[in-house]
Parts: sequence; structure tokens; C-alpha cells
Amino acid sequence: MSNHDGSILDEAGRWRSRDLAVLWHPCTQMREHPDVMPLLPVARGNGAWLVGHDGSRTLDAVSSWWVNLHGHAEPRIAAAIARQATTLEQVILAGCSHPPAVELAERLLAIAPRQAGRARLSRVFYADNGSAGIEVALKMAFHWFRNRGDEPRRTKFVALQNGYHGETIGALSVGDIPLYRRIYAPLLMEAVFAPSPDAFLAREGQSAEACAEDAADALAHLLDEHAGEICALVLEPLVQCAGGMRMHHPAYLRRVRELCDVHGIFLIADEIAVGFGRTGTMFACEQAGIQPDLLCLSKGLTGGFLPLAAVLATDAIYEGFLDDSRERAFLHSHSYTGNPLACAAALASLDIFAADDVLARNRRTAERMATLAAPLAALPHVADVRQTGMILAIELCEGGRRATPFEPSRRIGLHAYRHALERGVLLRPLGDVLYWMPPYCIDDAQLELLAAVTGSAIEAATA
Ligand SMILES: *Cc1c(COP(=O)(O)O)cnc(C)c1O
Repeated sequence: MSNHDGSILDEAGRWRSRDLAVLWHPCTQMREHPDVMPLLPVARGNGAWLVGHDGSRTLDAVSSWWVNLHGHAEPRIAAAIARQATTLEQVILAGCSHPPAVELAERLLAIAPRQAGRARLSRVFYADNGSAGIEVALKMAFHWFRNRGDEPRRTKFVALQNGYHGETIGALSVGDIPLYRRIYAPLLMEAVFAPSPDAFLAREGQSAEACAEDAADALAHLLDEHAGEICALVLEPLVQCAGGMRMHHPAYLRRVRELCDVHGIFLIADEIAVGFGRTGTMFACEQAGIQPDLLCLSKGLTGGFLPLAAVLATDAIYEGFLDDSRERAFLHSHSYTGNPLACAAALASLDIFAADDVLARNRRTAERMATLAAPLAALPHVADVRQTGMILAIELCEGGRRATPFEPSRRIGLHAYRHALERGVLLRPLGDVLYWMPPYCIDDAQLELLAAVTGSAIEAATA
């Protein structure tokens, strides 16, 4: 096969051209492929590396959209899926049961966040991707109040400004990122958005904790204003990931927990991106010592091998659906609910957490990330370097001043992306925020490569 200029294409070039003839890629302006936005053909994965058709390696610094935990093609997870595939690949989960779904539910409930004096999360409802998990939690919260019968006005959800919960219509309704949301606004249900506790928005000299307290005060106000109209509050604990890896003080989560209790509404913790060790603890809620009423998990749940989501609920919520009437039951379902292959992958991933003492290793890796990123803070256009566990973000602003973001048309992030990709690192900036969210198996040499390429990408993009 030959290129438009007549040159002979190599293996990667052939895949690129076949791809662009038939695929419509997610989150992509297809017109920018391949000239503005390069397309990286991947033949294999190995640990933190993506391997090209010619054997060239690219470091996956974003864990393939935050799903990969223990590395690509991790042999223990691959073997678990293969075993399960020759045992039971799928069965309808309405009316049937299978061991991986049961065992995974038991193990998730055993490690779920706990708070003294609260009834534990005690039920698992499966879905097959993060957005679907959010839909489940929203519908459960709403339906619970309907079943109770005395709350006909409770139709609204509170969410945070700059939050993200997925792309389906319900999940998008509680998200606040204009780029994804604005065009669909006429289709979305009404939500109430509370100010983000984002420490990047702190006033000059204000601590992250004081900023969090201010946001909690504003939330208290909003909840009073909408008393009796709200079923639940949904948030991403500790890090608003898609919103630019913006981080907040755990004091905010403690206040939110109290406020939800005072108002008798459910707290939905969306740990789809931050769960499974990403923030330093198994779950982000642990760092605030709080337990949500509904916990949404996906992304890293299967170690990044297969799509699966789990929504963990309390007995109080579960019991609200027990009745003689079918309409009071939670009739939500997805064809692949609790898929055995995905559950087997998730069980293998949990085994690796124990076998490799992953959380302890991550603490050392996170320290190394901090050390390697420290010099980047001194670069002229770096406004902030922030970190929560295995997430490290570098925000670029004109002159390094928070008040002067770069003109979006300069596409600083895209320049950094192209620069890094040419040097063997897959960074995928969110606007002008570069971040490291690597597979947990990343080693020292790979981290050094990542830091060096990030530094040169920042210099090149902001020059
Ligand atoms: C990715 C993400 C989702 C949506 O998950 P999908 O599997 O992409 O639908 C929801 N919430 C958060 C916080 C996410 O990062």
C-alpha cells in the first residue's frame, strides 16, 4: 500500500491508514487526524510501555485513560481471564449467579471505606462502564425517595462545579465541563452546582483547608435553599480528574458528609478514577475518614483489562426497594451486568494488590515522582505543581501566573503532546494541564524519562 505522496508505507503506516478509513475515535475532532493530531498505532503492551509495530516503545504516562493499574498485558490478570473464558464466559445475572460475581462483591465490600458509627456498604450492583455506574447511583437515589412515597419534590442532584461523571445523558447532567456539556444542555436534567473546593482557586495566601471550608459553607447555603428538592450529592473525592486534576483538602469531604446527613440526602462518591490506590490509599474517601452512601467504581476495577463498574450501597438503600411490587424494585439492567471475565480480571487485580504490596510500593513511587517534578516548578510558565498520591499535575499559565491562562488558540497542551510523543512518552494534557498518572509498575528509569520529556515538552510548548 502506498501513501498519498506515493511513498511505501511501513506496518504502522498501513494500520494508520486502514484505521482512518473506518474508525471514528472517541473524544477526537477527526479532522485533526493525522496532521494536527498524530495517531499512534500500538501493536502490543508490556508493563508501562506501549509497543509499536516496529518495536518502538512509548511510555503510557496516563495509564490509557486512567484504567491501567499493574501494567499492560499483566500475565496474572491475562491468565485469570483465559481460565475464566474456558469456564464460563457470560451468563444472565438476573435469576442466575456465578462465583466471580459473588466473590468480587464480597471482596469489594470488605475493602470499601468505613466510618465509625455508620452502617457499612453492604450491597453491590454491577454495571459495565463508569457512566453506567453513575446512572445506576442517580436512579437508585431518586427511586429510593419515590419508594418512600413522602418526597415527591425530590428530583434534583447537587454536583460540584468543574466535576466530571461521564458522557451518557444522566452522567453528563451532573458534570460541569463546558466542552463536553454545553452542546447537549437542552437534553440534560437540571442539576444544582456547588462551588468546587479546588485548592487552585484559593485566594492569595489562603490555605487549601480554608478554601475547602469556604466551599463547604457555600454548599451549606445551597442545600438550605433547595431543602426538600434534592435526592443526592455526587462528587469526585480529592481529585477532579477530567476537570484538570484539580485537588482539594479532605476537610471538604468531612463537611459534605455532615451536610448530607443533616439534610437527609445521599452522598454518592464517584471513585471511578481515584479508586484502587490512585490517591495513595485504596479509596480516596479513606483520607477524609468518611463513608459514602453509594460508591461508584470502574476504570481500574479490572486492572484496566475489561469494562466493568460496581455501585456499592448501604442496607438502608437496598431495603428501600424490598416490596411486593415489581415497580418498587430496581429494574435497571445491562446485558453484560457482572460479566464473569471482567469479574475474574478484577479478582486477579485485587490479588496483585496483596501479593505485590502495591500501596506500599506506590508510596515510594509517589515520593520519587515528587522529587523528579520539583525542578519543573521553576520553569517560567509553570503556575502549579500538585500531587495526590499517584497523580501529579503541572498547570501552565502565561508567565506562571494563575490569573493569566494561555490563550486557548495557542493549544499549549497539544504542542506538549506532540513533542512528548515524538520522544516516546504518551502524555495527554487536559487543556494546559500536563499530568502523570502512570501504571503502578512504572520503574525509576521510566520515571526519569517521563520527567525529562515533560520538562522539554513544557519548554517547547511555551516557548
Ligand atoms: C471516566 C470517568 C467516568 C466515566 O467512566 P466511563 O467508563 O468513561 O463511562 C465517571 N466519573 C469519573 C470521575 C471518571 O473519571
